[in-house]
Amino acid sequence: MVPKSGRVDTIGSQAPHRERGKVDCNEVYERLSEYLDKDVREELARAIDEHRGHCPDCRVLIDTTRMTVVLYQRDSHMATPVAISQRLRIALSAAYRESESGRGDV
Ligand SMILES: [Zn+2]
Repeated sequence: MVPKSGRVDTIGSQAPHRERGKVDCNEVYERLSEYLDKDVREELARAIDEHRGHCPDCRVLIDTTRMTVVLYQRDSHMATPVAISQRLRIALSAAYRESESGRGDV
């Protein structure tokens, strides 16, 4: 059996297209700050909600980040949405890295 493409992708085999209204982990990660800022289209927010429902990794990521944001907002009354987004990116990177290293699959 020879792969049609002539080479084998070792990193996952994610289809370039995806079902309409669905998001994958990468997209959740990319859109998370907008999602938490309530700055995404309702359709996307719902797709993320749905993904969160069946993806434990993203559930942890979203819950952790949301909590972080709430703490930040409570902490600083002067926080602007822009500042939150920036801090969120930093918090996100940290949270994402943690969840990655904490995962024990093969
Ligand atoms: Zn996910």
